[in-house]
Amino acid sequence: MADPALYLKGGVIPERDNEHYIIRLRIPAGLLGVEALGGIAIIAKKYGIITTHLTTRQTIELLHVGPEMLDKLLADLEKNGTPIGAERNEVVNVTSCLGTNNCKYAVIDSVSLAKKLDKKHFGKEMPVKVRIAISACPNGCTSERLNEIGVTGLRRPVRNEGLCTGCGTCRHYCREHAIIIENGKLRLNQEDCMLCGFCIHACHFQYINFEDALYLITLGGRRGRHPKIGRTFYIAKSENDVVEIAEKIIYWISRSIASDQMLPEQLTNEEFTEFREKVMKSLKPLGIEGMDPTNAYCLQN
Ligand code: SF4
Ligand code: SF4
Ligand code: SF4
Repeated sequence: MADPALYLKGGVIPERDNEHYIIRLRIPAGLLGVEALGGIAIIAKKYGIITTHLTTRQTIELLHVGPEMLDKLLADLEKNGTPIGAERNEVVNVTSCLGTNNCKYAVIDSVSLAKKLDKKHFGKEMPVKVRIAISACPNGCTSERLNEIGVTGLRRPVRNEGLCTGCGTCRHYCREHAIIIENGKLRLNQEDCMLCGFCIHACHFQYINFEDALYLITLGGRRGRHPKIGRTFYIAKSENDVVEIAEKIIYWISRSIASDQMLPEQLTNEEFTEFREKVMKSLKPLGIEGMDPTNAYCLQN
């Protein structure tokens, strides 16, 4: 019989028949080397597991696992570098898109950030489930704003007015129609600009420069029965700032949130504003010129 403590782990999930278990793995950012991937297949075969499942949170589950094999199976998975995951009131698998390593649209290294957040917070016991997701641009491939904590990479374009030929290629590329013609000249309509930075690549003359990447942090999103979009919490200037703010958010959740409802249901406007102001005061001023950090997509001229 397996060690009873194993059943308390978040990655050991009872199946419908109440006799078998689903074993969910920890795979930060959903990235897995081919050796580890092959290792999972070898381990599964060794224990007679015939089916795996790919989850929406970028992990793998081994299905229909008998209790008698739990001890040894989990030890083998640990050795393979794919240990048991989490799914209870904990910080669960941190998800990320491919980011600057692979995706041409990426403006931040979402994988590096995901790994840092995973290392610091994965599996922490919390009063509520805490999901963290990161997308390296506003395309939002990880649906990050539907997570308790979401991070989106942003980039602000800066067109060189003096050199611009007015060819209009960048205008054509902007999906938000944020580049408009006014008095015969192109102008960026700041309110419509999503800060995706795609227009930067559209200019063959490279007359559109860009500022350093920014990190939009959202709080209180969720999927499930009552989906909610997370509210803009802050715009950070660096990966380390995001790590610092995430730490404060996770600490605050652990101290201030009850366990009877999900976080978004408990996060009233007053609480959100009060907590946000408290965090803002405790941070060194990040001062992003021309930007209201409460509204990511609204830049002041
Ligand atoms: S969110 Fe953006 S950067 Fe990330 S994979 Fe999607 S398109 Fe690429
Ligand atoms: S950054 Fe994106 S939304 Fe803004 S103007 Fe360029 S293409 Fe349009
Ligand atoms: S693509 Fe370049 S040159 Fe053409 S309008 Fe845009 S910024 Fe100007």
